[in-house]
Amino acid sequence: LASREAHPESSVIDVSGVKIGGGSIGMIAGPCSVEEEDRMHRIAEQVAAAGANLFRGGAYKPRTSPYAFQGLGEEGLKRLRDVGQAHGMPVVTEVTDPRLVGLVAEYADMLQVGARNMQNFALLNEVGASQRPVLLKRGMSATITDLLMCAEYILSQGNPNVVLCERGIKSFDPATRNLFDVAAVPLVQQLSHLPIIVDPSHATGKPELIPACAMAGLAAGADGIHIEVHDCPEVAKSDGPQALLPEQYAELTSQLKSLAKLL
Ligand code: PEP
Ligand code: MN
Repeated sequence: LASREAHPESSVIDVSGVKIGGGSIGMIAGPCSVEEEDRMHRIAEQVAAAGANLFRGGAYKPRTSPYAFQGLGEEGLKRLRDVGQAHGMPVVTEVTDPRLVGLVAEYADMLQVGARNMQNFALLNEVGASQRPVLLKRGMSATITDLLMCAEYILSQGNPNVVLCERGIKSFDPATRNLFDVAAVPLVQQLSHLPIIVDPSHATGKPELIPACAMAGLAAGADGIHIEVHDCPEVAKSDGPQALLPEQYAELTSQLKSLAKLL
């Protein structure tokens, strides 16, 4: 179902009115975690003004340590939805547990399956049974075939609304958080009709590398760009060190717009 051979035409996924694929670029931005309400409004206002069309934030966080901040749960889902609505952006948020898919789908316009859960087949089946669009992130040690087979799980449950995401894979070199596999973009587009976006925030873990990798992703043909933005990265509840400041995000989107004109 995911293969280009069976479906030559590129799919366009509609996320509550925002289209991803077929030349429409999904600009997903927001903090890693849903945080205080006033901060969420501030960030949303600034990313929307910079051209973001989808707002993100995690209410259920898959953390390496069980003692690290785990997210605000349903309170966070409500806040994300309300802030997104106030600033005219549909919202994307991660669901980490098959038992939570119904609840998260009540608030979210798009369900994110994170890298750590890419092969959580019970979760894939559950988001596949939902009709909410799904953002499926590549596992950190997953091959392109693995990624496409996981999309197949979702599609085979009857949900055709899948967007893939390249977010970097493990490498031997700790110089970047992950290794940004930009070739995944044209390769996936050769093999599949599904849109694929890039996430240079998690791929590099370094704010100073994000703009170049976002531009590379767009030049490679990505259908969207996913960036973490925080107005005070030092106090962020998660992934502060890789966050762009709102003004850096605005500068990047203006560069991306210039690049898009050249392409
Ligand atoms: C995230 O989007 O905040 C996240 C946890 O991403 P990933 O699953 O790609 O690590
Ligand atoms: Mn994050």
